[in-house]
Amino acid sequence: MPTRTGKLPTIDTKRADKLVMALMAVPGKSGQEAAVASIIERELLKAGAKRSWIFRDDAHRKSPFLDRGGQCGNLILKLPGTIEGPRRVLMAHMDTVPLCVGSKPVRKGTAVRSADRNTALGADDRAGCCTILTAALEILRRKLPHPPVTFFWAIQEEIGMNGVRYGAISKLGNPMRAFNWDGGACNQLRLGATGSYSLEIGIKGLASHAGAHPQRGVSAVAIAGIAIADLQRNGWHGLVAKGGKRGTSNIGILSAGDATNVVADRVVIHAEARSHDPAFRKRIVAEYKKAFARAVKRVKNDQGKRGKLSFKALHKYESFRMSERDPSVREAMAVMHALKVVPELGIANGGLDANWMTARGIPTVTVGCGQRKPHTVEERLEMLEYLTACRIALNLALGNGA
Ligand SMILES: [Zn+2]
Repeated sequence: MPTRTGKLPTIDTKRADKLVMALMAVPGKSGQEAAVASIIERELLKAGAKRSWIFRDDAHRKSPFLDRGGQCGNLILKLPGTIEGPRRVLMAHMDTVPLCVGSKPVRKGTAVRSADRNTALGADDRAGCCTILTAALEILRRKLPHPPVTFFWAIQEEIGMNGVRYGAISKLGNPMRAFNWDGGACNQLRLGATGSYSLEIGIKGLASHAGAHPQRGVSAVAIAGIAIADLQRNGWHGLVAKGGKRGTSNIGILSAGDATNVVADRVVIHAEARSHDPAFRKRIVAEYKKAFARAVKRVKNDQGKRGKLSFKALHKYESFRMSERDPSVREAMAVMHALKVVPELGIANGGLDANWMTARGIPTVTVGCGQRKPHTVEERLEMLEYLTACRIALNLALGNGA
């Protein structure tokens, strides 16, 4: 690959290694990213970043999640270019799932795991944070010539991509290329991801004494049972495949009733529906609504009274699909080829920060950095892959794939 510098720059692997070991050990589930953000900021300043290049936004106050009580907003480092070229953004999320709190990273062969077998490691996505941090530090310390480049550490990805959804995207400086590092192998390029609704379904029944006169009650549990059986029987629960379209749905939480001797007068259900196809995703949601509405009609008490349904569908994120000819995808592939990494193109069945980046006008390709089995106690980080990801990130930051 012809690069601007003629040869590919390398990274300080010892430093990159130390950074990720340190950052994975810092507790910071969604909403509690302050400690991680200040470590990153300190490293940037130490390496020579000007204070005026660093921004914190107030995404945590704009997001309705966590009652607007997150500790801090997104962290952004915006470097003016020293050479010409389109601005690029490199990003990763700072939060982890709660299972990572208490992680004690230890090396086992080529991988790192948590010594505490009850916690996940937190490589998702501290490895991503350190991948782009390493790139930023190399540029700052060695004063490498670079096009305009923004580094973006986002908050609250794991609970709905809130950092990107509610963040000050205008502070990124209109990037024309966008790269996101999140869970997966270092050669993985995700060009798209599914979209999702979250559903909150409430059923209000009628309480009565379950022993003395159950016939006077309307059981919300019975209504829920009928509706769920209906969805399951007709193929709308779990893996949904109809007429060539595919999606998934899941009833994940169901809470109901207060006592065994009272006909249950309330059920609250939390569910989700996903599909890459927006129309089909809407259809799944509509089928849920119809099934519950039908079930409400089928249960009545001895006076003909029925229960009531409330049905809320929140659009969590939209699906997207980038072309292989998208300039960000092309640059990522070019840099991988130059580093002798064979790119593996795919799409994700979960949401990514890239969903909201794309929805907010910045199509973003997502790359892995060596994480395996995220969100489980078996999570590990393949260190060689992580270091490769750091090299990929640095070269993308330098515009070497262009
Ligand atoms: Zn992640």
